[in-house]
Amino acid sequence: MASGNAIRGTRVGSGPARWVERGEQVPRRAVTYWCANGHETVPSFAAEVAPPATWECPRCGLPAGQDQANPPARPRTEPYKTHLAYVKERRSDADGAAILAEALARLQQRRGR
Ligand SMILES: [Zn+2]
Repeated sequence: MASGNAIRGTRVGSGPARWVERGEQVPRRAVTYWCANGHETVPSFAAEVAPPATWECPRCGLPAGQDQANPPARPRTEPYKTHLAYVKERRSDADGAAILAEALARLQQRRGR
């Protein structure tokens, strides 16, 4: 039972290549996942391993499940917001314009000195 490591340790190219390739092959199975946005992902896993219940959608990052009709819910964590988004949320457009005008006026004063 000590042969596995010795075989993998041989240099690629020095031995029979086909033999190495056959050793690397693992039976795989494809599992289909769907996310809440309807994206379909088909990763493949080693057949001897139980596939995970959810898989991260590579297109939108939402968790995807194996039941197309009932994909996992979006995570509750708040999506990342930029500082500007928070400012826009708190202030109206008019406020924003007033703040901008004030900032410009201050800038012009500073230049005038
Ligand atoms: Zn998706």
